[in-house]
Amino acid sequence: MKNFHAVLYEAVLVAFGKILAKYDVFTQGVIMRDIGQEVVAYLNEHGFGFQETDSVEDLNTLTDLFVKNGFAEALEITPAENGDTYIWTNLYGLSAYKKLYDLALNPFLACPLNLCMFYIAAKHKKKLKMHRKEFKSESITEAQYELVDDTDSEGNLDELVLQSARLFEIADEKQKLFHHQSITDTLTGLYNLRHVLDMGERIFEQAKKHHNPIAILIFDIDYFKVVNDSFGHSTGDAVLRKLADICRQSVRETDLLARYGGEEFIVILPNTHPARALEIAERLRKGVETTAFDDGKNKIHVTISIGIACQHNQELSFDSALKNADEALYRAKNEGRNRIAA
Ligand code: GH3
Ligand code: MG
Ligand code: MG
Repeated sequence: MKNFHAVLYEAVLVAFGKILAKYDVFTQGVIMRDIGQEVVAYLNEHGFGFQETDSVEDLNTLTDLFVKNGFAEALEITPAENGDTYIWTNLYGLSAYKKLYDLALNPFLACPLNLCMFYIAAKHKKKLKMHRKEFKSESITEAQYELVDDTDSEGNLDELVLQSARLFEIADEKQKLFHHQSITDTLTGLYNLRHVLDMGERIFEQAKKHHNPIAILIFDIDYFKVVNDSFGHSTGDAVLRKLADICRQSVRETDLLARYGGEEFIVILPNTHPARALEIAERLRKGVETTAFDDGKNKIHVTISIGIACQHNQELSFDSALKNADEALYRAKNEGRNRIAA
């Protein structure tokens, strides 16, 4: 048993090391080139607290570490009582794994510990035969394995690592896609209101901290109801999409452009002096005015009114800047539309 646990311990490091080395899936920006001591050192630097020892108690330490470091909510490994052939049960849970089960042919590779089990098996020229697997709840799974003889499993180790790493990549992509969808407006592809409200505070904090000027533009299509009433709602939608494209071309990478409401948009312009904000606003206004929105039957012309709020050498919160820009927009509308007010 002692030997088994020592090998398990080593296998955990090898499995983590290989995943870290090849896919950088648990951390960002760090690529491991070797495994073994360096892995231990690396994991320790990141708060794992592994120690080199081969005592039987290490198994408990190890499972504790898995739980403590967020790889599982609960974890238990129970070797079978009778001798040569190991049958054990492991029980673990982590909501994130649930996503991986849904994706994977062999979902149990999604658990780093299970991957290690496969390593151990191969090292002993054995393979894992799964007797039973069960989803006990949303995030708790129980599986039971037996080690059986297998003479040529060594060659499959890399494939196992690849499969496991791929699962994490897929889960990561899904996560990114979900995040992208949650901050994107579906009609225009611009950022949505929620993202602006999230980011606005932070961008203003940064500007304040570094004493940089910052500006906000809020603009609204003039008489947009008339467009809908005359040409139909779907043509109105097409106008909104095209307008978003024009605006995208008129702002810089560092600016944050978003759909603020139905036919209202917002641009946050970091590092921008009032004169420059006015120039950008004029470029937007003119860009829209001179574009014919073609729905195949009609050439539609629309204009926008823009309200500007600037922060320069004064302490302005994001909220009060929004309010100022909104009031300026209201003035631009009242003064006749197709114009800019600051
Ligand atoms: P003004 O802003 O110049 O005062 O006049 P307006 O007619 O543009 O202003 P108002 O805010 O009263 O109307 C906005 C219209 O925008 C009403 C609504 O039907 C339309 N709208 C809002 N969201 C969408 C959308 O997603 N698609 C389409 N097609 N129309 C929308
Ligand atoms: Mg409006
Ligand atoms: Mg309007």
